[in-house]
Amino acid sequence: MAYFDLPDAPGVTEMSWPTRVVLGPGALARLPAQLERLGVRRPLVVTDGGVVRGGIAARVYGVLERADVAFARFEEVQPNPTDRDADAGLAAYRAGGCDGLVALGGGSSIDAAKLVQLLTTHPPPLSRYDDATGGDRFVRDDLPPLVAIPTTAGTGSEVGRSGVATLPDTGRKTVIFSPHLLPRAAICDPELTVGLPPRLTAATGMDAFTHGFEAYVASGFHPLADAVAIDAIRRASRSLRRAFHEPGDLAARTDMMIAAMEGAMAFQKGLGASHALAHALTPIAGLHHGLANAIVLPAVAEFVRPAAEGRLAAVAVAMGEGAGDGGNSALAVQAVEGIRALVRDLGLPARLRDATVREEDLPRIAAKAFEDASHRTSPRPCTEADLLALARAAW
Ligand SMILES: [Zn+2]
Repeated sequence: MAYFDLPDAPGVTEMSWPTRVVLGPGALARLPAQLERLGVRRPLVVTDGGVVRGGIAARVYGVLERADVAFARFEEVQPNPTDRDADAGLAAYRAGGCDGLVALGGGSSIDAAKLVQLLTTHPPPLSRYDDATGGDRFVRDDLPPLVAIPTTAGTGSEVGRSGVATLPDTGRKTVIFSPHLLPRAAICDPELTVGLPPRLTAATGMDAFTHGFEAYVASGFHPLADAVAIDAIRRASRSLRRAFHEPGDLAARTDMMIAAMEGAMAFQKGLGASHALAHALTPIAGLHHGLANAIVLPAVAEFVRPAAEGRLAAVAVAMGEGAGDGGNSALAVQAVEGIRALVRDLGLPARLRDATVREEDLPRIAAKAFEDASHRTSPRPCTEADLLALARAAW
């Protein structure tokens, strides 16, 4: 199907959107007003050591103090949180007599805060709510309000309905997925991302790009997600290099915050083989999630190209590639090349072997990736052998 053709009649589809977003430089000043709107009098601020050391937590505490908002803190979230982060956060919530949450940080802190939020009214263990076993049916809507303040432009967890944690009873990154986990407000202040180390700007930004790409080419019918996904691709393509090279460029930072939200909104349609592999690479090889996506995405884009030529052609146009007049198949090739060039320009390693992944781990990574549901919406179906071939190509 060429991307400008109408699809076949899709039948009946169910889709949903939401979240109040306060966006722009200085948006952080609106935090007290959002808490007041939601009736939160004593929030628990959930964050991590990196955000504290970077001075961002102090800025948030200052805003709360100047508005006379009492609050408690939990600053111990680990990268790639586990049930222990959620339990410790819950203890802080109870000890502080809190009635709501402020999730401050990258994906790990926001996800951990959502799990604390869930445990305030739902009994453990968290594995009971595992999306892979239909656990979403146990998640009720009686959760305290949560306001998310992202300090990276990547996962888009501030507008996402999932919390992810590695749990002992499942032994893997477990996704807890419910519309009730959508933050009640997201405060997206690009000034908070200015101090991010360039390598993290690059890796998290590539996560946002990959969400847009995989959602856009995913099989299935979701025109709302498609429209938002292609805009995420457009914004990340034009602004990620700039945010990387000129960290203080607030226009580029704002664009990336929008791309991150759009990527997360869009991937309710589905993801693909890149995320399946990334979900295995992080626990097995310790790779940052965004970096894992950045390295495997060019191989994945090449793999899906024959099955999604029209879609890749549209990606090339959105990326500002699309020079010449070679039709969809030439444009699709340019999309793959454009992705490769983007990763290279961001100074990220091009191969898994350059990012501490051992060759002998590749079969285990492919097996874990095959268990992951993300690849089920790949426009070109993946076998475990395909995932191994993709991991080898990226290695
Ligand atoms: Zn991701």
